[in-house]
Amino acid sequence: MKRLEAHIRNIPDFPEPGIQFKDITPLVKEPAMLRLAVNQLIHPFLGENITAVAGMEARGFIFGSLAAWELGIGFIPLRKPGKLPYDVQSMSYDLEYGSATLEVHTDALKKGDRVLLVDDLIATGGTAAASCQLIEKLGAEVAACAFVVELDFLKGREKLSKYNVHSLIHY
Ligand code: AMP
Repeated sequence: MKRLEAHIRNIPDFPEPGIQFKDITPLVKEPAMLRLAVNQLIHPFLGENITAVAGMEARGFIFGSLAAWELGIGFIPLRKPGKLPYDVQSMSYDLEYGSATLEVHTDALKKGDRVLLVDDLIATGGTAAASCQLIEKLGAEVAACAFVVELDFLKGREKLSKYNVHSLIHY
């Protein structure tokens, strides 16, 4: 994981003073690192009967889509409000900076689906917890949550104590 960590760029005071932004763009532009990250994200869940990968807009789309591709299953986008054209379920939540809402199409998942939730980073865990609630609102099960980066000091994992949480790089 040291190789992956070497490709995370730390941007102080972005998007607000006091936030250390973990920029994953140096990682995703390196083919070997992108492949390593996606393979490591899904590795614990091979053989777990995952039926869909859900990812949060926008950086969750990068890793989530590739994880779905590697697993040979579909990808469910969890989007910012007003972007999805069909019937939606919504969930609002607090961020490390500000607050936000996520939406999902009501027909995206159903009872019996076992979902792997994927995002680039877990900070306070608000985004991931809201995403899990959205998935469950549709009757599906959250099989696990997988992140490239976890900011351990923000204790986001505590908000996901009901779930299996897997992270590649810890700060
Ligand atoms: P949270 O809901 O606090 O766990 O925030 C997680 C979401 O916000 C993820 O979608 C991240 O992409 C983004 N995020 C929060 N904090 C950071 C950070 N320090 N660096 C990069 N992305 C962040």
